[in-house]
Amino acid sequence: MKLQFVPYHLQLKHPFRLATGSRTSTPTVQVRLVENGIFGYGEASMPPYLGESLDSVSQFLSGIDSSDWNLDNLSQILESLDSISDHDNAAKASIDIALHDLKAKSQAITTRELLGIHASETPITAFTIGMGSKDELRVKVQEAAHFHQLKIKLGGPDDKEKITFLRSLTDKPFILDANQGWLDEKTALNYLDFMSTKNVLLVEQPLPVNTPPEIWKRLKEKSSLPIFADESIKRLSDLHQIEELFHGVNIKLMKSTGLSEALKMLQLCKNLGLGTMIGCMTESSCAILAAAQIAPLADFIDLDGPFLITNNPFETPTVIDGKLQLKKEHGNGAIPIENIYPLENQ
Ligand code: MG
Repeated sequence: MKLQFVPYHLQLKHPFRLATGSRTSTPTVQVRLVENGIFGYGEASMPPYLGESLDSVSQFLSGIDSSDWNLDNLSQILESLDSISDHDNAAKASIDIALHDLKAKSQAITTRELLGIHASETPITAFTIGMGSKDELRVKVQEAAHFHQLKIKLGGPDDKEKITFLRSLTDKPFILDANQGWLDEKTALNYLDFMSTKNVLLVEQPLPVNTPPEIWKRLKEKSSLPIFADESIKRLSDLHQIEELFHGVNIKLMKSTGLSEALKMLQLCKNLGLGTMIGCMTESSCAILAAAQIAPLADFIDLDGPFLITNNPFETPTVIDGKLQLKKEHGNGAIPIENIYPLENQ
């Protein structure tokens, strides 16, 4: 099996402003595994706050010898990659995604069938409205016309005003993402109370990651809305540490090292009584359609990456009645629309 990869910057339609900063593009590495003329596509997305970069991912992938990989041993391959380091989660995810794509294609089935998932529909997918001026927010709400659920990025001193303004524009249900921006317990409880009257389904990561567990526990008890962990959790092994601190978890392939572990996280969350969301970083259709394969098992999904970029190298998925449509194509369903791989690699 041959491994090819190339850096690719995803350009954002709007500058992405969070409580923690702003950017206009996100670096990714696009991965292609080739065996018997079949391509398996994968992707690593590296938003700066996760600590991975073009250099770190390229270095990780350069160190891999895929020449004797056998698709019958997919889990052993992933275990051996995982043992290389205790980080590089997005780099590992890119291989996991490409391997699932290739294995399912080589069996002429979809990846969800490969994983034993027979549901045909995803939950309604949320569309992200980033921070911005009133005029920018008005444009973004108009752009979200095809979506039935909006995910609002918060974490600033004017969050109440922002929600009040957005409520004057739309009555669609909101998922709120404070991105660690509500600073202390009192502020968070005050905001949660206010937001609970605004048709809000849940709030992601109200407080910073380093908030002590006893404060999270109190917040969970007193909160008038479900609180979901995002930055506070990456992998399966983190779940037991946070199960009493949150009502649910945002699972992302770039944090979990890919589909294999994300599926285990979904299953363990169900057993622990935790709510689940499948989310994403800035990702092309490649990683998004991979995540969509396990999305039927989640309570919420936020897989809007391809709709927020201008240079998706794969076909953009369709959304009907607010739901991301699962592809009938074998594998993950990502279909390239341009060849981004170096000529010497073809
Ligand atoms: Mg989040």
